[in-house]
Amino acid sequence: YKAKTTRSGHHIYRNDDDSHGETRLRTLEELRLALHEDQLILHYQPKIDLHTGDVCGVEALVRWNHPTRGQLQPDAFLHLVEEGGLMHAMTQIVLEKALDQTAIWHAQGQLVTMAVNISASSLIDTALPERISSMVAARGLSPSVLVLEITEDFLMTDRDRARAILTRLRATGVRIAVDDFGTGYSSLAYLRDLPIDELKLDKSFVMPMAGDPRATALVVSTIDLAHSLGLRMVAEGVENSATYSDLAVFGCDAAQGFFMSRPVPAAQLDEWFASRQEGPAKAAYKSS
Ligand code: C2E
Ligand code: MG
Ligand code: MG
Ligand code: MG
Repeated sequence: YKAKTTRSGHHIYRNDDDSHGETRLRTLEELRLALHEDQLILHYQPKIDLHTGDVCGVEALVRWNHPTRGQLQPDAFLHLVEEGGLMHAMTQIVLEKALDQTAIWHAQGQLVTMAVNISASSLIDTALPERISSMVAARGLSPSVLVLEITEDFLMTDRDRARAILTRLRATGVRIAVDDFGTGYSSLAYLRDLPIDELKLDKSFVMPMAGDPRATALVVSTIDLAHSLGLRMVAEGVENSATYSDLAVFGCDAAQGFFMSRPVPAAQLDEWFASRQEGPAKAAYKSS
């Protein structure tokens, strides 16, 4: 395989002969069909408020129910969505589905925020803020229930442009989170003047915490710095109870990870909501 980096920074691996290229084209055709035939579905992963132990939000994560290859994870097809110029269409579908589900949960009294991942290519769409406003209003929701998760590289390429785009988006009332924080090249000082609300500390910092004082020290100081800039800190990749309770003690605001729940279909998360309300489960997630 030869590795090639596109302008958008994606790595494409291809064979010297063209058989791989053909597969890619066929997959792209399948992907177009998938958008039309509603084969993209969302799974939802809960976020827990570490100050109260309550569910505070969910993140929507896309999956592709492929007719023959089974359920595909984002890593298997997102680069193709980008390459095929289908990201706008996908973002629209994901936002519609996620907001539909938010409206259902809110009607049931499950007042969660909904986080949606927005690629850099979708953020530069100047119609996005208006579309988001009307989608939110059409469902009778407050825009503040929507959290847009963006990645650090978007902030790094052109800071003034990023600031302008985020300012317009935030003016609609939605909230902005920086995803996978710590994996890019931005520093907290660099993020200081950007209109953002939340940092999501990448799982590569959170997962090694258990039993590792140096990894833990790094997380603690990052939480403190985020707070000193008035930002909310969310930890992703929380896989065990020790990490969960440590994060609560260190003042991290929210946690997300397999320890609480994997990303699951909405119906399955409904069962999880119900089991937490009934059982002692909620207490187990509380700090102290
Ligand atoms: P992300 O936004 O950082 O999402 C978190 C990823 O970490 C998810 O992978 C989730 O399943 C995984 N994860 C959550 N908790 C744990 C844990 O405790 N341990 C471990 N090892 N992993 C955990 P997933 O669903 O495969 O998504 C991968 C990435 O694909 C996302 O990373 C996001 O960047 C992108 N993505 C997913 N859905 C969308 C979408 O609708 N639009 C766009 N543009 N990107 C999306
Ligand atoms: Mg995310
Ligand atoms: Mg992340
Ligand atoms: Mg990630």
